[in-house]
Parts: sequence; C-alpha cells; structure tokens
Amino acid sequence: MTDGRRVPAEIGTVIVGGGIVGMCLAWFLAEEGHDVAVVDDGRHAGTIANAGGLHVQLQSRFMRLYPEMVPAFEETLPFYPRAVRHWQALAGRLGEDIELAVTGGLMVAESREQYEFLEKKCRRERQLGLEVEMLDRAALDRVAPYFAPSIVGAELCITEGKVNPLLANQAIRRRALAAGVVHCTETRVGSLARVANGFAIETSRGSIRAGRIVIAAGAGSGALAAEFGLIVPTRAEPLHMNITEATEPLIHHMVQHADRQITMKQLSAGMVVIGGGWPATLAGADEHPTVELDSLIGSLSLAQHVIPRIGALRLIRTWAGVNTSVDGRPVVGPVRGLPGLFFAIPGDAGYTLGPLTARLVADTMLGRTPEAPIGGYTADRFN
Ligand SMILES: Cc1cc2nc3c(=O)[nH]c(=O)nc-3n(C[C@H](O)[C@H](O)[C@H](O)COP(=O)(O)OP(=O)(O)OC[C@H]3O[C@@H](n4cnc5c(N)ncnc54)[C@H](O)[C@@H]3O)c2cc1C
Repeated sequence: MTDGRRVPAEIGTVIVGGGIVGMCLAWFLAEEGHDVAVVDDGRHAGTIANAGGLHVQLQSRFMRLYPEMVPAFEETLPFYPRAVRHWQALAGRLGEDIELAVTGGLMVAESREQYEFLEKKCRRERQLGLEVEMLDRAALDRVAPYFAPSIVGAELCITEGKVNPLLANQAIRRRALAAGVVHCTETRVGSLARVANGFAIETSRGSIRAGRIVIAAGAGSGALAAEFGLIVPTRAEPLHMNITEATEPLIHHMVQHADRQITMKQLSAGMVVIGGGWPATLAGADEHPTVELDSLIGSLSLAQHVIPRIGALRLIRTWAGVNTSVDGRPVVGPVRGLPGLFFAIPGDAGYTLGPLTARLVADTMLGRTPEAPIGGYTADRFN
C-alpha cells in the first residue's frame, strides 16, 4: 500500500484526477492486478464539494440553462438509474456505511404551469423508461407533509436517492489504497507527451513514464487534452453549498424544484444539505472557489420558502466547489489515433455517474465489452 506525494518513476497506468471517477477507476483496475498511480493536485474537485444527491430524473435547472442540450440529456437518461444501481452495489462492496439511501426524489411545482411542465416531463421520462409519477398536493402530503402551502404537487422518481460524499470518498480511497493504488496527492500534472511505448508525464513532483494514461481530471481535463492537440471543451462551473445544524428526521426524499435552483436532502445525522447550483466565484490567482453572499442569501431564502421548518435551523457551514460541464454527455473511453490514452469524465450530475463512469472505462481498458455502449461518448466527437 502506498499513499503519499512521491511520484513513481515508472508505472503501468497513470490516472490524472483523484475525484470519484479517478479513485473508483484506480480501484477497479488495481483489484484486477494492474499497477496504477492516481495523480491529483487536490484543487477544485466536485467530488469533495458535492451535495451527494443521486439524480435520475431530468433536472429542470439544466433544461432551463442549456435548452440546446435537452436531446443530449434525454439520450444519456438511461445511464442514471444504472448509475444508482452501481452505487448500491458499490456500497455493498465497501462494507461500511456511506449513508446511501434510495428513498426517491421529489421535484416540486409551485404553480399550475410548473405542474404541467412536470407532467409533460414525467410522460416523456416514462417513455424513456424511468419510474416516475405525478403527485397532486394531497398525494404529496401523504409522503412528505412538510412543504409550504404554495407547493401544488410534485414529480416523484423512486429510484433517486442520496449518499454522504464525505463517507463515500474516504471509504473508496481506503479500498483503492488497499488494492495497491499509488495516490500522489497535491501533485499537479503540467505536461503530457506521447513517447515510445507510452507516455511521459511531467508533474510538480517529478516525471513519470506510464504505458497508459487516463484523463479523469474534471474541469482540468480540457487543458490536459490540449497537450495532445485534442479538444475536450470542459467548463469549470463554481457552485455554492450550505449545511444546517441537525434536526429531527424530516426530509426523507431528495427535494428539487421544477423552476428554481434548489436541492435539499437530510443526512442521517439530521443536518439538511442545501444546494441547487447557485453560483460561486473563482477568486484569486489560483482561482479558489469562493462563496458569494447573494447565493448564500438566495439559496437559504428559497429553502425556507419551500420547506418552512428549515427557517428555524442555524446554518453551520457554507462552501463552494467546482462542477464540470461539457455538452451534457460523458467523455469516456479511448481516443482515435492515440493508443493508451483514455478519458473518464462523467456527464451532468457527475457524482451520481462516478462509479458507473469508472466501471465503463475500466472494462474498456481491461478488454471487456462495457455493459453500456460508449462508442458515441468518446472524445472523438470533438476532434
Ligand atoms: C457544489 C456542488 C454540488 C454538486 N452536487 C452534486 C450532486 O448532488 N449530485 C451529483 O451527482 N453531482 C453533484 N455535483 C457534481 C459532481 O460533484 C461532479 O460532477 C463529480 O464530482 C465529478 O467527479 P470527477 O471525478 O469527474 O471530477 P472532480 O471531482 O472534479 O475531480 C477532478 C480532480 O482532478 C484534479 N485535477 C485537475 N487537473 C489536474 C492536473 N492538471 N493535475 C493534477 N490533478 C488535476 C482536480 O484537482 C480534482 O481533484 C456537484 C458539484 C458541485 C461543485
């Protein structure tokens, strides 16, 4: 077992990026006998900042922000229930509590027009194979009797859920290290180049030669792809998060809004995690994700507007992190003309997709047929 900042001079596979995708992938390869190093600069990871929502239904926020991407969201929809099943299997394999709960997700409507938007979305998602149904206010009250009077109903997706990322990340890292993964922390990859029989990787702690390389660097992936003259249009999206003090069990579902930016879920210990894509800022020379006061006030006001009992809770922490967006689809698998190079970037709701993305890329690298075809999701589509 190796854990530290020294980089190996030579190794079979280097994975750049130690977020949920990179660490799961490293574990999956190492347990099959491959020697793997994960090189991560420990900055800006969505994995350490995210809300732990396991998303399945189409998110109205993304549909509103990126209407041109709706066909891509629909095309990748089948990945999401599959991804939740992967989380369930992973939780079983980890053998420690990561507070995974598939208790369903509610997307609430506050007007007749929003309810009709959800009804239309619900019909479409059913056609695409999701387990979703509409709940009018009376039906909603039977499963979640805590919403403000303004809420008229909700779409329920029973395969949605939540996980505690703080527990999950540590448990996965422990399993990866136990399988022999070399985890080079606080180590930045500067340049990448093709050399005879593999790749030369220049890092802030020295050079590595590797037979294969995987770019799983979230929003940093585009700059690394450019080292090979490839275009992968990753965008860094800094986002805001809050968590309240603990309270009695109240919110069993993951909660979202049909038309406004809010997600809420309650951890087993009682704290309510409030997110939903409110913007943060990249500040200073190192572009540190930094909280914006408007987002703090806006997200908390909206949370108590939707669930009034949240208004009595004290905020205990607020933070910002960087989400990665590309074109609504994952970027996974090999690259034409560059044998040994692979990408592993999940699509939207990338924490949900993390273990599945890693499995699909691992199986490709292990010479197996991935359980879902990934041919349409390689970086070749941009190049
Ligand atoms: C506030 C917030 C809330 C979110 N909530 C949810 C949610 O509820 N549910 C959900 O499904 N998703 C959520 N997401 C999205 C999710 O967190 C990300 O999509 C997911 O974590 C991406 O994982 P990843 O492994 O691909 O990348 P990341 O976790 O971003 O990891 C990439 C790693 O690569 C490293 N790196 C980059 N460039 C280099 C380099 N040159 N050298 C070395 N290392 C490098 C970075 O430092 C980072 O550690 C949220 C995101 C944010 C920011």
